[in-house]
Amino acid sequence: MNYTHIFMQPSKKIALVAHDNMKANLLDWAKYNRGSLAKHHLFATGTTGGLLERELGIKVSRYHSGPLGGDQQIGAAIAEQDIDFLIFFWDPLEPQPHDPDVKALLRMAVVWNIPMACNRASADFLISSSLMDKAYERQVPDYQTNRPASARTGNP
Ligand code: PGA
Repeated sequence: MNYTHIFMQPSKKIALVAHDNMKANLLDWAKYNRGSLAKHHLFATGTTGGLLERELGIKVSRYHSGPLGGDQQIGAAIAEQDIDFLIFFWDPLEPQPHDPDVKALLRMAVVWNIPMACNRASADFLISSSLMDKAYERQVPDYQTNRPASARTGNP
């Protein structure tokens, strides 16, 4: 398998998403880590973003609300390399109307090998990593050369 690398700036483009039952937990985590988060560019789904912006007093660029397409927008932004870091407190105890979108977002994060935390302990470990404020080259499969020739379109 061939690999290519995607460059991540020291200042990361972080997307934050929390399902309704998880919002208080994410807000509490974000307030505790406000100083670290303030060094990066923050993005979020609609409701999560509004709450974060109010609590943190930091600009948060907002996508649609998750059930209205926000998760899909973030997944697309990951594929376009406009998001390079994901904090996603999804609810493990309750089905969501947009469960397929949630799965798709999780898949995009893995396909593009971005750091992702889906619970608070993982988020604690990620945010305190020494890599957080450094440039980083993440490795992704070179999908252009790894795809069978019959599937290549010539598009980038
Ligand atoms: P919300 O969306 O931030 O608009 O609530 C989150 C989600 O349910 O995916």
